[in-house]
Amino acid sequence: MGRLKRAIAKDASVVACAVDATDIVAQIEQIHQTSAVVTAALGRLSIAASMMGYGLKGQNDTITLRVSGGGPSGMLTAVADSRGNVKADVEHPIVELPLNAQGKLDVGGAVGADGTLSVVKDLGLKEPYVGVVPLVSGEIAEDIAQYFATSEQTPTVCGLGVLVKPDLTVQVAGGYLIQVLPFASDACIDTIENNLKTLPPMTKMMTEGMTPDQIALRLLDGLEPNLLDEAEVAYHCDCSRERTERMLLSLGAKELQSMEEEQETIEVCCHFCGKKYCFTPEEIRSLRLSSEAETRNA
Ligand code: ZN
Repeated sequence: MGRLKRAIAKDASVVACAVDATDIVAQIEQIHQTSAVVTAALGRLSIAASMMGYGLKGQNDTITLRVSGGGPSGMLTAVADSRGNVKADVEHPIVELPLNAQGKLDVGGAVGADGTLSVVKDLGLKEPYVGVVPLVSGEIAEDIAQYFATSEQTPTVCGLGVLVKPDLTVQVAGGYLIQVLPFASDACIDTIENNLKTLPPMTKMMTEGMTPDQIALRLLDGLEPNLLDEAEVAYHCDCSRERTERMLLSLGAKELQSMEEEQETIEVCCHFCGKKYCFTPEEIRSLRLSSEAETRNA
């Protein structure tokens, strides 16, 4: 189970969120069998999604982050609910690249920087909210900060880190977001900037044993911060047989008929968790009949 914690400055002008998402990213590696650099890329995106999802107000609200940068990993997707639970998927889970100039996993190289980050918030309204920004570097954290600055007009600092062991399992993974509200004073912004100058990288703080509470408070050092709230967050897929049936129905009667004519059991595999749902030709047939009935009634 991961742990997410938020803290707020005494004058309520800055909120900081920190999350230990080691378990979440470990599951991403297990499910998707990602190479190290893709574990880091998809892990970073999922950590950001968890923190952004947790900020949503409605119980059934969800947020989907999609990064398409033209790199060898292809498109990356992370979906989070308003409790900060997340699921993720990547087009090409195995990409091997040499370390970058800083000796780090080359996330920007795997993702590519020629493309966009799209943010879709489903808030239960007729139309979802969609924000699309060009990628800055494909390193994810900077791209997330850019999204907040341009699409939400909220100055945001984002730090994301995934440390992968030589055996490809995840040692630590986590991140933080600092959001500055419009009424924050210049002095307050200076304090944050100074805090960041001496802030160790996220994975270093975590390997040294700092908890999300301590990290959230450290980010707001000098602003008399208080802890606000906390949540347990996990890798969670909400797929079900019923949802899979709805997806099959959406293919339409014609497509279902041709599946039925193959006379074989159809296996539908969930992209996010790998769970398989099987449908016999008879089951496909009954779906087709209800699809046809729906069309007639429409
Ligand atoms: Zn699933």
